[in-house]
Amino acid sequence: MPLRSSYPPSKLDMASSMKTLLSDESRYLKSFNLFLDRSTEHKCMQVFIDEILPGELASIGDGKCSFNVLGVGSGAGAVDLQMLSKLQLKYPGASVNNEIVEPSSEQIHNYKVLVAKTPNLENVSFNWNKMTSSEYENHVKENKENKTFDFIHMIQMLYYVSDPAATIKFFHSLLGPKGKLLIILVSGTSGWSHLWKTFKHQLCFNEFSQYITTQDIKEYLDSTGLKYQHYDLPSYLDITECFTEGDEKGELLMDFLTETCEFNKTAPPDLKAKIMSFLRQPECTTEKDGKIIFNNTLGAIMVEP
Ligand code: SAH
Repeated sequence: MPLRSSYPPSKLDMASSMKTLLSDESRYLKSFNLFLDRSTEHKCMQVFIDEILPGELASIGDGKCSFNVLGVGSGAGAVDLQMLSKLQLKYPGASVNNEIVEPSSEQIHNYKVLVAKTPNLENVSFNWNKMTSSEYENHVKENKENKTFDFIHMIQMLYYVSDPAATIKFFHSLLGPKGKLLIILVSGTSGWSHLWKTFKHQLCFNEFSQYITTQDIKEYLDSTGLKYQHYDLPSYLDITECFTEGDEKGELLMDFLTETCEFNKTAPPDLKAKIMSFLRQPECTTEKDGKIIFNNTLGAIMVEP
């Protein structure tokens, strides 16, 4: 697959009038924010950060008083800052150099706003790189930088790279001797996995986005012999509004589910009907108190150096 060099992507390769959601940055952000609102996405990450992450961070210290952290595809930084606070709790008074790789200027702006209103960040320096992960890789290679990182995280972003395995390999190579790489993606048991496997050829999964899950990542890591820990993070997404014809929020959620811009307006009617009925299958959703709840289970993988 060709490497993507710009963001958002400008050339599309779809035969029909369906366009990937990633081609419209502002609609992507709107539907992503609605997804965050209607799901327990960040809540389940918070549970992981509270209960699992401190134990994982215990081994990266080794007497250090300064840490290099790298966030790839950090979005607006909410999850990043929660993780930083755990690092600070574990290593009181340590200084943290926090590097961010994020192609969306709007999200970088949101991240900066969040930092400005978050207390206790005196010992943390932030450096935002407005670029994609592959641009960052080129940048590091061109400058022959040999900076290593104690903690690198890629949360919900590997869908957007052209070669996830090569991306993991590169970022893993930036780990220091005790460093750890955290990858969070949807789990192979989630509704996403079933939906994507069934409809990948009819939806906009092309060079800009792929339907990968933590199952694929585990298989890749097993093939390389890299050691890792895996954690399941149960999570839910309320998609009830998708079933109300003409509901604006429902339409934005459908765009997010199918990675398609204006799915309801541009998808062929038979595909739309198939997906709506597929979404009611038990692999995807359960019904609770009149609500239709999509299985948003995530997986967190902590890769050893
Ligand atoms: N980690 C955040 C945001 C996830 S959304 C969270 O979990 O809340 C995915 C993020 O990846 C977006 O902010 C998007 O701008 C970014 N992204 C998309 N393509 C990317 C690429 N090629 N390299 C790095 N980041 C990318």
